[in-house]
Amino acid sequence: MNRHELFIAGCKLGRWRWRSWRISLFSVTKLPLEIPPDLDEEEQEIFSIYEPEQYDIDYRTDGIYWYDKEQNVWNLIEGVDPTQPLYNDRELAKFPALTCINQPEEIETTYGRMLYNFLVVTYAFGDKIPFFHKGRSGDMVKKFASKAVDDDYVPKEGEVVFFASEIAKFVKAQYELPSMAPYVTPTGTARSLTTDPRVEKVRDELLAKYGNGRKLTAADVAEIQEILINMDIEWLSQDESIDFYISRKSISVKRKKLFLLHGLETAFQKEGYFTLIAKPLYKGTDMSQLPAVFNAIREGSYDRGADTALGGEKVTFLQRIYQNTKIIPGDCGTKILYRFTLTEYNYRSYIGLNMFDGVGYVELTEELAKANINKVVAIRRPLLCKATHTDFCEVCCGKALSRSPRAVASEISNVGSDIMYAFMSSMHGTELSTAKYIPGLHIR
Ligand SMILES: [Zn+2]
Repeated sequence: MNRHELFIAGCKLGRWRWRSWRISLFSVTKLPLEIPPDLDEEEQEIFSIYEPEQYDIDYRTDGIYWYDKEQNVWNLIEGVDPTQPLYNDRELAKFPALTCINQPEEIETTYGRMLYNFLVVTYAFGDKIPFFHKGRSGDMVKKFASKAVDDDYVPKEGEVVFFASEIAKFVKAQYELPSMAPYVTPTGTARSLTTDPRVEKVRDELLAKYGNGRKLTAADVAEIQEILINMDIEWLSQDESIDFYISRKSISVKRKKLFLLHGLETAFQKEGYFTLIAKPLYKGTDMSQLPAVFNAIREGSYDRGADTALGGEKVTFLQRIYQNTKIIPGDCGTKILYRFTLTEYNYRSYIGLNMFDGVGYVELTEELAKANINKVVAIRRPLLCKATHTDFCEVCCGKALSRSPRAVASEISNVGSDIMYAFMSSMHGTELSTAKYIPGLHIR
């Protein structure tokens, strides 16, 4: 059995359920198969010998072995280096059809991705979600969130739903993923400890070029930063640490301040005023700019405390006001529709609401919304609902919201949460960037 066949056989047998087995795929590991000779008596007592399982992997000085439980023998895997992990999670390989039950045809994918499909996708949902080639678990949620049902729900014929117990399994599998992080997304590598050596020169040239005879504007600084950030991304792109910097902020805020350019500090100043600090933090603090640095820290602290409380207060306030509001079954019968142009920028906000198609109402799904981009559509909105008292009707609210008829208050209170998050995140630094003015997006 070669190493590729071993991976497939092990996964098919369900060895991916063992954390130790998963780790042994991507890391050099040694199984405690016998008592090491150098242990003293007390240590020998607490040492427990591991009972090997089918397809266990053991790295030894003379090679990597796999265990055949039936024959009770350890077999050498040919042509591999025992000082290196047996697989790399990014390594591409061809897998025959039905290696994983959600993959009816032969595919080429990475070992890491194949393991993810065993551990998360099919463990939770069987073959309901096709092989998940690209994206993160957050993208998976989009596939089932709108079709989530209670366990006692009886699906209609041909209807694909995701039961609460399956989603619970999905969540459970998520908790297993961090255990793999040290082997697939190292947090520190030689390359990630520094940046492109050309950055310093490029930064100084750009600052001189943009600032030639005039004061730099915030937009200039944003453009300079963008160039430097892209150099840093390029620098990391061939490095395995790039997967650790999965959020853009890790680079555009944190690594930028550390290696590229400290950037603008705007704390407690009128709009449009800022202090530019060119010296990145790894070069030491620019002592001449100390007040600006301290002010930024003070403002972050103030926002995190006082202004975050504002958001929290809004949440409670809105929840109290709407606590008795609910979504009632049926149609309020309003004839007033909201007409507007769906654009690629706004369509996401309206998904799940009811659209008038000339005859009746249809749910505006993501597919339907995309098909109607740049067209005028007419939808029902809670704003125009005629339901009595303080309630809203099912048709004006859309299917997704109507599933939780008493959730209106918590839905509305999200406005407060957004205020809170905005202030809370200012503690962690914000990204300065320019955006193109797009009337379709900015004027509604
Ligand atoms: Zn209504």
